[in-house]
Amino acid sequence: MNCEILCVGTELLLGNTVNTDAADLSDMLSGLGVNVFWHTVVGDNPARLAEAVEIAKKRADLIITTGGLGPTYDDLTKNVLAECFGRKMEYHPEEGEALKAWFAKNAANRFTQNNMQQAYLPERCTVLHNDWGTAPGCAFEEGGVHVIMLPGPPNECVPMFRYRAVPHIKSLSDETIFSHQIRVFGIGESAVEDRFRDKMERMANPTLATYAKFGEVMLRVTAKAHTEAEAEAMCAPVVEMVRRELGSAVYGVDVDSLEALCLDLLKEKGLTFATAESLTGGLIGARFTALAGASAVYKGGAVTYCNEVKAHMLGIDRDMIESKGAVSYETAAAMAKGARLAVNADLALSATGLAGPDGDGVHPVGTVFVGLADRDNVWVRQLKLGTRRARVRQLAANHAFDMLRRYLQGLPIIEG
Ligand code: ATP
Ligand code: MG
Repeated sequence: MNCEILCVGTELLLGNTVNTDAADLSDMLSGLGVNVFWHTVVGDNPARLAEAVEIAKKRADLIITTGGLGPTYDDLTKNVLAECFGRKMEYHPEEGEALKAWFAKNAANRFTQNNMQQAYLPERCTVLHNDWGTAPGCAFEEGGVHVIMLPGPPNECVPMFRYRAVPHIKSLSDETIFSHQIRVFGIGESAVEDRFRDKMERMANPTLATYAKFGEVMLRVTAKAHTEAEAEAMCAPVVEMVRRELGSAVYGVDVDSLEALCLDLLKEKGLTFATAESLTGGLIGARFTALAGASAVYKGGAVTYCNEVKAHMLGIDRDMIESKGAVSYETAAAMAKGARLAVNADLALSATGLAGPDGDGVHPVGTVFVGLADRDNVWVRQLKLGTRRARVRQLAANHAFDMLRRYLQGLPIIEG
């Protein structure tokens, strides 16, 4: 099934609002085996929206619209779509009642008559009731083209898609889709693709595709079959083949991120860790504590930006820092050891380096040392992470988590 996502809203064109709906829907649609071939954004203008719908009708089997379902004058998506597909608008009494009940419960929002507009939907449609806001969505089929309309606010659009649109899309086909996401760190996308290009081109079901994620690569294996178990069984040998080819660069299958994997492994092994961060300024700790349940394994960390604080808070010899330099193998090692001892954790991560744009006259910008200490040993990775400050910092954090997960998975921490 070939899909076009049509996002309606002038704010998206002006750059005030980032089009996260399109990204989120695409991500979920690829998991369903739906090919998203077009993203279109159009302002709150009926003529231009109608033009966009006419184009989408000719090339897509599934059109998903977001936005413009609300009660205000610029919310015109339903009316325009209904007209483009030759349907009248129809009042849905059950949605009207639900709206009245919602306003009765939410006293802060005064009911105004224009709210009733939301209970009007194209005739003969399937209503997608909105439990996350007021504007219902809808779905219908006309001339072989399936249309699904969803509200714009992401906190409504995403659950409406997941719980209302997904069952509807699944019901359109008697086939089930199953997919696995293989997460890879330490090999670039082009190198990964190069290894599998021939296979990927020959594969039809299951399929294998690569996606670049920030500093890492994701491979998605997708199979179609009559039952989920059948589709899953078809994916398994492909996952095995990728694991064999890429070895320990595969950090997990169907895991959310390096740090999420670290959290699971630390919990499993009953180990704690701490952090000492210089160039990342707390990013490693922040990314880790963004995960629910982090407190079970993360003891805390220090942001030690200048030499004096590195020495004072982590108990590092000042002369050593001065002689070897703040950006050095020795300082990264001492930071990890110091952080571990300071809070009596089982493990500690450290990062020191030059995020840029200014260098230190010794190392080029992007030189980073990331350390990992346990009770007996310390390991340090020396890295060159480019020249973009934000990217250098994120990649340094990725490497820290990669060292930790390798330690926890019993793999060599420094390769090569
Ligand atoms: P409402 O009932 O809130 O009016 P709606 O379906 O009419 O919902 P819009 O009016 O188009 O939706 O958008 C409401 C808000 O949702 C926008 O101001 C914007 O902040 C956010 N929004 C809309 N579309 C998108 C999108 N594609 N990606 C991210 N945010 C969006
Ligand atoms: Mg609106």
